[in-house]
Amino acid sequence: MTVQPKKALGQHFLVDENILGVIGRMASLEGTDVVLEVGPGLGVLTRYLADRVGVVHAIELDRSLEPALLDALAGRTNVELIWEDALRLDLGTLQPSPTKLVANLPYNVATPLVVETLEHATSLERWCVMVQREVADRFFAVPRTKAYGAVSVLVQLAARKTGFHAVPPTVFRPRPRVESALVAFERAPVAAISDVRPVVEAAFAHRRKTAANALAQAGLVSRSQVEEALAAIGRAANARAEELAPAEFVQLAEALR
Ligand code: SAH
Repeated sequence: MTVQPKKALGQHFLVDENILGVIGRMASLEGTDVVLEVGPGLGVLTRYLADRVGVVHAIELDRSLEPALLDALAGRTNVELIWEDALRLDLGTLQPSPTKLVANLPYNVATPLVVETLEHATSLERWCVMVQREVADRFFAVPRTKAYGAVSVLVQLAARKTGFHAVPPTVFRPRPRVESALVAFERAPVAAISDVRPVVEAAFAHRRKTAANALAQAGLVSRSQVEEALAAIGRAANARAEELAPAEFVQLAEALR
């Protein structure tokens, strides 16, 4: 069956099946798992998952892939195909509730999807996702680096990294122009990121400004309120967002409340 890959949907299909074993190990797959896969594409990973876990919920936007996907799944009955945009679907409606997100993600939606699932898909305990190398590096970047940003803070508040594996373009067809990486993490029982998220996103919205100016500009609070809150957490009034560690954003959000 020939399928013309669609660039706009980030269609880069896995062709090197060796990588499947790496994904399986990094995701610690078990027979009782309920897996959420976003973007099953032609079903190479879906089939691998279906043979090893209890249930796979596979959400795919491109319905033209249906014949090829059904063909790849060859009657496996533990896969539920959902033809929708994963960013629009209410993941809370999936039954049974997914416990792991395992996917070669469409790169254009990878970051919002990871942040959204960390914040709202509370049944998920573990993630093993293939993303652009640059995006993977952002998730667990440390303060005062170029890669450190709002996403780093939110991911690190909600999760703990359990694995990383660099992946070359050669395992995909068509080959992406960028390097990729598998990154695995598990939910860390920390503060709900919903309370901190607006502060984090506003603080990083203008990277060259001080955190106080960026937050004031977002209209959340006045500059003097932020400066007081920064003083309360032991930071200078002219501190920048990229200097603050994830835990400091929690303190800052508390001080601003
Ligand atoms: N998992 C497959 C394909 C990965 S390519 C493999 O490894 O071979 C990414 C897939 O995500 C494509 O099939 C694309 O159609 C799908 N996709 C893109 N945007 C999507 C969205 N918003 N929601 C669900 N699927 C999406």
